[in-house]
Amino acid sequence: MTPNPSAPALDFDSLLSKRAKTMNASAIREILKVTQQPDVISFAGGLPAPELFPLDGVRQAAGAALDKYGPAALQYSTTEGHPPLREWIAARDDIPASNVQIVTGSQQGLDLLGKVLLDEGDLVLVEAPTYLGALQSFQPYLPRYEQLPTDEGGIDVDALEALLTRLEQEGKQAKVLYAIPNFQNPTGRTLNLERRRKLVELTARHGVLLIEDDPYGELRFSGEALPSLYRLGLELHGGVEKNHVIYCSSFSKTLVPGLRDAWVQAATPIIRKLIQAKQGADLHTPTLNQMIITELLPILPAQIEKVKKAYGERAAHMMQRMDDLFPRGALRTTPQGGMFLWVTLPGGIDTTAMLERAVSRQVAYVPGSPFFALGGGQNTMRLSYSSATPEQIDRGIAALAETIREGLD
Ligand code: PMP
Repeated sequence: MTPNPSAPALDFDSLLSKRAKTMNASAIREILKVTQQPDVISFAGGLPAPELFPLDGVRQAAGAALDKYGPAALQYSTTEGHPPLREWIAARDDIPASNVQIVTGSQQGLDLLGKVLLDEGDLVLVEAPTYLGALQSFQPYLPRYEQLPTDEGGIDVDALEALLTRLEQEGKQAKVLYAIPNFQNPTGRTLNLERRRKLVELTARHGVLLIEDDPYGELRFSGEALPSLYRLGLELHGGVEKNHVIYCSSFSKTLVPGLRDAWVQAATPIIRKLIQAKQGADLHTPTLNQMIITELLPILPAQIEKVKKAYGERAAHMMQRMDDLFPRGALRTTPQGGMFLWVTLPGGIDTTAMLERAVSRQVAYVPGSPFFALGGGQNTMRLSYSSATPEQIDRGIAALAETIREGLD
């Protein structure tokens, strides 16, 4: 090709779709760049602990999958997913495997659900705060949001009831409620049983689809396991095909995130559409990855025990240090599982502004406000204990306590 420097340059920005223009770099990814300086103790990233990954297990599972399936392990495969993996997942809730769709990370599940469910202007109800990645997935489909207040017991279902009643009076209809009932990202809170029942019942009564995002449910290190919203939906409706709850979960937090294996379970019309949407997105989740996960299923219970034990110890340690060192006005959640803790500081402190001072003291967290769909939470922050050593917790929480005290002076 002969170079032609005078050929007109396209204005790429002006060519972007309306949809693309709604996409922003995740506020958290931008913040993580600042916090990734060497010597900074970061409680900001939400990464599973890499030293707990079953490295040998994955090595052996990959060999076993290649031996068992030969070239088929490297071939294109069905969009629905590897049959033995779908069957294993379906058996957990005693539903047909045809109601399970394997996805490339539950993040893809959220994106595809947005694609098949949301039209511009559709009303989506989210927790305040909620998982930022879900907002990023839904945003290109241009929904409107209403925030649901939350407290230690999760979503305030009385406020939800009042909202749904008001909407009904105004002739409006919420389409989707998105919730993370177990050890929520970002707060670490769990929706209590009474509220679970009411949430399922209320959304069913008002014709609202309930998306239950549950990547952390297996990682409970204290308290009693609670039934999933999906399970309560099955009970309420007496079967899978009338269940208005759509359940998403993942092997990212229990096994490894890098293989990107997760799933969605839902009534057939939803799954059928997800299959079509996924065909357009990536044809299927990588064949070998699904086979590796399937070969790892026998070690999953032991792996979950190992992860729960480590996270439970780390959470307890972080909470203890906070209780020892934080000023009295700083409130924290008490996670019973998962990877996150949420701190609320006295009203006047802006955690976004405070981050720079924290980083100069070599500790980092994620400011809470990006997790609010409609704003709020300027005085809140998310901390992850999942990959912190005891020494890092000691030094990091001490530095954070000093930073907070300085802000209060
Ligand atoms: N949902 C929630 C609530 C999460 O915290 C995450 C991971 N940070 C995801 C979904 C995405 O997980 P994955 O795509 O790895 O399954």
